[in-house]
Amino acid sequence: MRKVAIVVGHAKNNPGAFSKWLKPEWEYNLNVAEELKKNNSSLYSIFCHEGYDGGYYAMEKRTANKINAEAFDLVLELHYNSASPMAHGTECCYWFASKKGKEYAQNISSEISRYFYTTNRGIKALYNKNDRGYWFTYLMKAPAVIVEPFFGSNEFDSLKFQDPVKYAQTLHQIITSL
Ligand SMILES: [Zn+2]
Repeated sequence: MRKVAIVVGHAKNNPGAFSKWLKPEWEYNLNVAEELKKNNSSLYSIFCHEGYDGGYYAMEKRTANKINAEAFDLVLELHYNSASPMAHGTECCYWFASKKGKEYAQNISSEISRYFYTTNRGIKALYNKNDRGYWFTYLMKAPAVIVEPFFGSNEFDSLKFQDPVKYAQTLHQIITSL
């Protein structure tokens, strides 16, 4: 990996999921992105979506135009999941036709779950435009992976990821060994 783009999922004015134990999804992942960059400032570029004006597709398209103007080896969009209190575990999503995307998604998901002792829910292939996260994975020129390391709605999962420094350092180790 020479150049990796880190996209903070959602937007400042529309921050995604909430957790009783963590900062809102957008803010949490901005912290993680900043901590990740401290591990190697020349490897990572951080991107934040400007906002949802025009909808999810339009937002991803604006960000993709910026990212695709540079040559990245990998693009990650950082998220955390939310569902019922019982739902838990790590998963990653990729565009169904991307071999590299699939390979990276598999590795990132299994390695995060190995380091943090979470359940590896595995990878999800995104096939059509109604799949959540589809446009991010489709629009990027480089292999693109959506990272959902845990459920913010699950206490046990959330507490494992309460320190964004630890998560960022782990993610850095995983990315540099891909
Ligand atoms: Zn999200």
